[in-house]
Amino acid sequence: MVNPREGPYNNSMDCSNCAAPLPAKSNLCAFCGTLNDTDLRAIEVRGDVGPTTERVCPRCNEQLHSITLNVGTPLVVERCTKCLGIFFDPGELETLIEAGVSHVMHIDFNRMATLSEEEGPADIPLVTYVKCPQCQKTMNREAYGARSGVIVDVCRADGVWLDGSELGRILKWVKAGGQIYADKRLHERKRSEERKKKNLAKQAKMESTSGGLYVGDVHRPSGDLLWDILSAVARLIR
Ligand SMILES: [Zn+2]
Ligand SMILES: [Zn+2]
Ligand SMILES: [Zn+2]
Repeated sequence: MVNPREGPYNNSMDCSNCAAPLPAKSNLCAFCGTLNDTDLRAIEVRGDVGPTTERVCPRCNEQLHSITLNVGTPLVVERCTKCLGIFFDPGELETLIEAGVSHVMHIDFNRMATLSEEEGPADIPLVTYVKCPQCQKTMNREAYGARSGVIVDVCRADGVWLDGSELGRILKWVKAGGQIYADKRLHERKRSEERKKKNLAKQAKMESTSGGLYVGDVHRPSGDLLWDILSAVARLIR
């Protein structure tokens, strides 16, 4: 008999309706069809204040509900009660993730590798572009962080749309040290760019101050005696 926790069913969450293990990439139970609210299981929710927003779900056109998440500071986000997708205004998802990162001390590369494998492209038909709930422009699909395996929908001006189960997957990635890894990589990239810039500036300075290498824009090998004399003369009459 196949262990249901192996293969595609290695998600540690169970269906709230039939207790069957949920597929790794989705919150939709393959056995009873129940859509499970996996994203907010680990987050304290202060309550749904109902459809107080004009924004509608980009997937099902239903009016979004405002809910308050308790992540140290209360965070109000908009959520679709039908597909369980969540819209975050700029900065809100980062706030939520920072609250999670403060407990993570190290990067678990093995965990991250298994995560990005099991989180591969979702099997539900979500690989379609959606419109921003605020400005109605088509959102960009972007890979979240480094190696998270989650593709999110982004509007530069208004925020991020996460489909149901994506927040849970991002938080698993954060717990595995994914955010620390992404921050580290960004830091390293910035440093190497700075180093490159410094070296270029140094090189330019050396070339402009070392005599004999430059007349106009033409480079000549140094050590050519005639050239050295000519360029010395050129410098004198300049
Ligand atoms: Zn079920
Ligand atoms: Zn929806
Ligand atoms: Zn927008």
